[in-house]
Amino acid sequence: MSVAALRPQAARGQARARIIVIGGGVGGATAAKYLALGSEALDVTLVEPKARYTSCFFSNLYLAGLRPLESLTHGYETLAQRYRVNVVQDSVAAIDPVAKNVSLEGGANLSYDRVVLAPGIGFKAGSIEGYDDAAMQIMPHAWSAGLQTSLLRRQLESMEDGGVFVLVAPPDPFRCPPGPYERASLIAYYFKQYKPRAKILILDAKDSFFAQDVFEDGWNRHYPGMIEWLPGQFTGGIKGVDVKGRMIKTGGDTFKADVANVIPAQEAGRLAHQAHLVDQSGWCPIDPMTFESKLQPGIHVIGDAAKAGNMAKSAFASNSQAKVCAFAILAALTGSERFVPHLFNTCFTLLASDDAVTSAISYSAEPDTIKINDFFLSKVGDSAETRREAVREADGWYAAFTHDIFG
Ligand SMILES: Cc1cc2nc3c(=O)[nH]c(=O)nc-3n(C[C@H](O)[C@H](O)[C@H](O)COP(=O)(O)OP(=O)(O)OC[C@H]3O[C@@H](n4cnc5c(N)ncnc54)[C@H](O)[C@@H]3O)c2cc1C
Repeated sequence: MSVAALRPQAARGQARARIIVIGGGVGGATAAKYLALGSEALDVTLVEPKARYTSCFFSNLYLAGLRPLESLTHGYETLAQRYRVNVVQDSVAAIDPVAKNVSLEGGANLSYDRVVLAPGIGFKAGSIEGYDDAAMQIMPHAWSAGLQTSLLRRQLESMEDGGVFVLVAPPDPFRCPPGPYERASLIAYYFKQYKPRAKILILDAKDSFFAQDVFEDGWNRHYPGMIEWLPGQFTGGIKGVDVKGRMIKTGGDTFKADVANVIPAQEAGRLAHQAHLVDQSGWCPIDPMTFESKLQPGIHVIGDAAKAGNMAKSAFASNSQAKVCAFAILAALTGSERFVPHLFNTCFTLLASDDAVTSAISYSAEPDTIKINDFFLSKVGDSAETRREAVREADGWYAAFTHDIFG
């Protein structure tokens, strides 16, 4: 029997419920697929401005020269053709929760029964003085993938051997807690081969970071003397940038970079603010059972923009949230079975081309928050074969995971 034949059908003559999914990244694309797969009684539209999505996950491998950028880009053809999602290439300008209407930059208006919003992150304006849109073109953040990532790669390629790469790491909470430290590791991997006299300086807003002992052990083993990490309490925090001089100003010293990668403080993507979905934390409070906004009924927020208790802001977590959200909407609108939310995060982080660490977390959704149930993390002293095996698993994971999202 085909998948379509298993779906609840819309009753003859009955209007199909209209779901608008905003944002075709990990969270939005997964939600659109599982909503469309779940019931023919739903009319699912996905609005995304870009024709192709480039994943942040594995973009550090591109920076290291271990993968082409093209291998990280995905289109929406399968969602449109196989799952019959209406894919609209546009940006949402506004959501009107009273009229239940979404207006697009291109001028169209779409009415909805439910919205699923997955806009990803935005950067907190003014968190680093002088770091504006123009500065991002000189000192890229590369924290949303695509042009920013290739800009950073070009800068690394043209840096002289003996140059200093400065990475500014953001305060919590931010997208992908191991991400800045994986980036430092893989750029060191690149430097070790092509610019062995180069140095990496991490200026951190924080005083500690995720799996710090595992990273520092990897840095000592693979890149002795190449990476220096300075915590916020040592520098007095990141205060500003001087773009012309490629300088980063902290509470104490000012540091000169040959290449600077500035990752600022983060918050929910801009549309979430315009739609009054964020609280004073800058993120969107949600009901952990359904991911429906606590501030605007009928709008669900998933992915990095959601304030999801102890869940990491990661692709795997966004995909897991999208499924919980899709099943909750299906139950509410089509009467399909209600499921107890199962929320997970799994992550592969590379320290070198043959050395990856893994983490796996399961969560429990409680009425007011999401808590960690069980936690596994690779340890200092794992065998070299265990770490090599994790690299092989990571490759397989990327293929299977992106297939799950984009079809
Ligand atoms: C360097 C790096 C490495 C990472 N590595 C990993 C990893 O190994 N494993 C892992 O699980 N996670 C990883 N992540 C994290 C992961 O990429 C994010 O957590 C994930 O992409 C979040 O998904 P999302 O759907 O919330 O946002 P996104 O994937 O960013 O998607 C948001 C989408 O919304 C669209 N959008 C925004 N505004 C609008 C609008 N107004 N109208 C319409 N569309 C809009 C955007 O164009 C975008 O396509 C990494 C991140 C970085 C930066």
